[in-house]
Amino acid sequence: MVQASREEKTRLIRLLGVTKMYTQPDKYDILVLDDITLDIYPGEFVALLGPSGSGKSTLLRIITGLSSPSFGTVLYRDRPVNGPNPKAAMVFQSFALYPWLTILQNVELGLVAKREDIAKRREKSLQLLDLIGLNGYEDAFPKELSGGMRQRVGFARALAVDPELLCMDEPFSALDFLTAENLRSELLDLWLESKIPTKAILMVTHGIEEAVYMADRIVILSKNPARIIADLPVRLPYPRNRKSPEFIDLVDYVYKVVTGRDDDKGAETETANATQVIPTAERTILQPIPYGHLSMLSGLLELVADRGGQDDLYHLGSELFLEVDDLLPVTETAELFHLAEVTEGDLTLTDLGREFVDSDVTERKGIIREQLKDVPLFRLIDRVLHNKANHAMPKEFFTDILEEHFSVSEAERQLVTAINWGRFADLFHYDPDTELLYLALDQQDPNDKANPNAELLQEK
Ligand code: ADP
Ligand code: MG
Repeated sequence: MVQASREEKTRLIRLLGVTKMYTQPDKYDILVLDDITLDIYPGEFVALLGPSGSGKSTLLRIITGLSSPSFGTVLYRDRPVNGPNPKAAMVFQSFALYPWLTILQNVELGLVAKREDIAKRREKSLQLLDLIGLNGYEDAFPKELSGGMRQRVGFARALAVDPELLCMDEPFSALDFLTAENLRSELLDLWLESKIPTKAILMVTHGIEEAVYMADRIVILSKNPARIIADLPVRLPYPRNRKSPEFIDLVDYVYKVVTGRDDDKGAETETANATQVIPTAERTILQPIPYGHLSMLSGLLELVADRGGQDDLYHLGSELFLEVDDLLPVTETAELFHLAEVTEGDLTLTDLGREFVDSDVTERKGIIREQLKDVPLFRLIDRVLHNKANHAMPKEFFTDILEEHFSVSEAERQLVTAINWGRFADLFHYDPDTELLYLALDQQDPNDKANPNAELLQEK
């Protein structure tokens, strides 16, 4: 490829069986990274693509030595990494600038750690500010700069240490569209024209187009836990044209792999996507539910119905302005409720899905209610609320159960979604003030003799 250094065959990074677990206080360990084995060579621009919460940042921190794996080995140029790697630099999504330091001081900071003398530091930093388009902003403070300019400082600071490995954690995702696009092509230019001494770039992203646009290799991670489900070369020449058929085809293909709907990958990703919490024996009891918003579900199904009952997922996503991260939970919800099926990147309405689209709100609630009866989490909530004499239970009771199966944040998201669905389907009520889930009279079982309200219900 373009860089001479690509001839170098010494591995820069080698990960062998890298596994990361987080221990939760009084809870089970959560497995985040499972057996990640990966080599990165000089000359490569690798995009690490995966859904939110899959463990991308965790992996990046391990690679740069900011965090250590629970098991497995991290080697840099065949030497074990113990502690922050001085040859690697990181660009963060949140810019992470010191507000009380000027732009110049922020950039110089990386060099202080490198013990460069003051004059040299200054010269180097000014050079970089110039290279990265910040000429004239030396004495400004971060708050005086736009988001795009601040991220330029983030890049300049990372590049100041002449990193061999430039790591970037979703560096463009906090920027508006045009600013992000400018910075992407400027960075590509610095890299492709060898204007920076960086030997390899590792960029974490959840944007498929971004990965295909920039990287020459895409490593795709699954979630819960993260495993490598694909490692693809991108052979499109730079500068890449997002409208070219080759580009669109590749985006489409990556989409299928990420959604686990590529035929070759299907079986593999299904296991990879299974939620794994240790101990695994508990797993079958509570399958995680996707975070699909029911209003979005209706919108999606209506749109597909307008298209004759079938459409390309990637197409639908762009039509609804949804990133794959936001679209997937909705399509997974549609599948969970047997309203649609996803095959080879296409979403197709089922008969029930068509019925749903043609129904009014009350009928839709009925359809969802019927489907929820087969979902373990709802069976649990239903059983508990029906068996309780007063038909009410604090939310915390369910949070505790969920936290034995999921991480704290995941448990909260599961329950919030469950409460939204349950309320929509009229399965139960929720009072946010008292944080109680409860059954109203018309939701209780009139045939339940143990129900103190049974008589009242029979009369109705
Ligand atoms: P990503 O960058 O792909 O969005 P992260 O690496 O930030 O994902 O997080 C992966 C998972 O690990 C998430 O479920 C997150 O809640 C969990 N996690 C991350 N850091 C910690 C931590 N210090 N303690 C416990 N759990 C963590
Ligand atoms: Mg992250």
